Amino acid sequence: MSGKPKLRSIWVFHLNTGSCNGCDIEIIDVLTPFYDVERFGIKLVGSPRHAHALLVSGPLTRQAYYGAKETIKAMPPEPRVIVAIGTCTCSGGIFYNGYPVYRRPESGREGSEYPRRGGIAELIADLRDEGEKVGPVIYIPGCPPRPEEIIYGIAQLVGLVEKKLSYQEYSDELVPFKLPEGPLEERIRLTLMERLRHLVGYLDREKILEDFMELVKEAEKSENPREELARLVKDYAAKCGDVRLGFCMALLEREYWRVRDALDAGKEFVYWV
Ligand code: SF4
Repeated sequence: MSGKPKLRSIWVFHLNTGSCNGCDIEIIDVLTPFYDVERFGIKLVGSPRHAHALLVSGPLTRQAYYGAKETIKAMPPEPRVIVAIGTCTCSGGIFYNGYPVYRRPESGREGSEYPRRGGIAELIADLRDEGEKVGPVIYIPGCPPRPEEIIYGIAQLVGLVEKKLSYQEYSDELVPFKLPEGPLEERIRLTLMERLRHLVGYLDREKILEDFMELVKEAEKSENPREELARLVKDYAAKCGDVRLGFCMALLEREYWRVRDALDAGKEFVYWV
């Protein structure tokens, strides 16, 4: 947290941006009589127009994006504190790189590309680009964080305790994924399965991967498997008429060649990009 505002008490508004509700239950615990944060001068208000701080939970889904943006804009311009509660809000959490989370178009990546980090930082960056004043931001990770941790985070804001840790930026390039052991086809299958885990549920995942591996087998029969696979994937997407399925297939095609090339070159790791 930087630029700590001078507040004797703090009025907060609670906003869910796609959380599983785990964090919201803890927030309610903090605000109700058992933990009773009103004794520290922290008070829940019913409108963002009256709030010093926004308690945000959830990874910021695409659906929640515009609502969250308008909520922050509705807050008074000073001090507009954002309290990111839960790992999802801090960095995407279990929704990190998931299909439904918001990704900044300014990142220069194509619509279907990754990473989609998730978390409130993407929206804050958008708002700052638009010239809106936002911040300071307090990050309280945990899945969900315990009420004591939430109180500790907010207590830093009102100056009751000092902060002991510093913020660290996380980068995908630092996290290699070790390719599994075994026969080539199995290594590719397991790696693609891991990739699909971010996008779809268990049963659908099996079926989509099975269909994709059939296309790979078909493409391998041709003289130019890359071109043939691209054609087959396009046909598949057109026939199924489901953009989500087409998206998964396009992702699998790209990942297939990336993993295949890495294995052919004798590499043991790939990086999620
Ligand atoms: S951090 Fe955990 S509990 Fe909170 S919204 Fe995310 S998944 Fe749910």
